[in-house]
Amino acid sequence: MKIYSYAFPGNIEEDILQIGAGQVPYMRTAWFSGLMKDNERMLLKAIGCKDGRVLFYTSSGTCAMEAVVANYVAAVGKAFIVDGGTFGHRWIEICDYHGLERQVFEVPFAKDIDYERLDRELGGSDAKVLLCPQHETSSGQLFDIERIGAICRKYGIRLVVDAVSSFLADELDMDRTGADVVITSSQKGLNLPPGISFVILSAKALDIDFVHGCYYSDFQNNLKNLTRGQTPYSPMTTLFMQLNERLRRNEAGGPAEVIRTTREKAMYFREKCREYGWEMSAERQSNAITGFYIRKGVDILFEELQKKGIYIMPSARPGYFRVSHMGIQSREEIDALVQAIHEIEMRG
Ligand SMILES: *Cc1c(COP(=O)(O)O)cnc(C)c1O
Repeated sequence: MKIYSYAFPGNIEEDILQIGAGQVPYMRTAWFSGLMKDNERMLLKAIGCKDGRVLFYTSSGTCAMEAVVANYVAAVGKAFIVDGGTFGHRWIEICDYHGLERQVFEVPFAKDIDYERLDRELGGSDAKVLLCPQHETSSGQLFDIERIGAICRKYGIRLVVDAVSSFLADELDMDRTGADVVITSSQKGLNLPPGISFVILSAKALDIDFVHGCYYSDFQNNLKNLTRGQTPYSPMTTLFMQLNERLRRNEAGGPAEVIRTTREKAMYFREKCREYGWEMSAERQSNAITGFYIRKGVDILFEELQKKGIYIMPSARPGYFRVSHMGIQSREEIDALVQAIHEIEMRG
């Protein structure tokens, strides 16, 4: 049965999938080093980070979060965490796991940050680094990362942005924002299988003595290997080849073009939500996903869609579902998705 994925990473082009289906080439070679350097160059360009470096981990996005906490936050001092849902909350758990000092700034579900309150609390805080998702994927809420960057600059506080679900969905220019560190991963905006996470370190972030807080993700050791285009431990070679192809394709139109097409899909789906009266969650919506509520058929929607090969993302909140706008999805396919949800709601 054909799968229509409105989860992460969404549907991927057949020829990019095929790169991952072939034999795995040996990677301690000049060819692979060249591929990695090319990947790093294209990623830095896409994220607007001129003199930075990219660390690559064969892992999901949470590994990059933990790497930042164990190597970087541990070195710079107390963390100030914006907690507006699952992913903001994860920073708290990781800091606690590593026994690091942190302060929490709570934001209600699906609401934007009260930036004046943030300014006051950050101004009165002894924190050294702010940790925040650009897009809180659990609610679809997009935070104003440029505004957060400006507040951080005002108080000389470092900024770590979790762009796992916003990279290539919403605009992010690292140098302009003044972000010291950004993390992302392969299975969201890059529309690739899960398996690579990235830590992008600005020139300013590179200029500190990192703590050796985690053997596998050790920044210093990974940076040393990166100078020869290698990772210290076995990379998921074919996924790095898929990444190279994806970045090459994106390079022509730049990030703006990918963002534009994602936004177009989001706008089309949201038009349908309004038509059918499905209330949307976020105060300021990311292009990455739409979170919405249905009123009937709540308990059967996920299972019934699955029978048709359609995947959307359920949640613990009654009637609340999320649809991703990443990956291949035509207007006809979105129409079919909307029709299927509507029919199940009418039946339920
Ligand atoms: C998906 C996601 C992550 C990482 O989750 P993994 O399952 O470990 O890849 C981190 N932050 C945000 C905002 C995310 O959406």
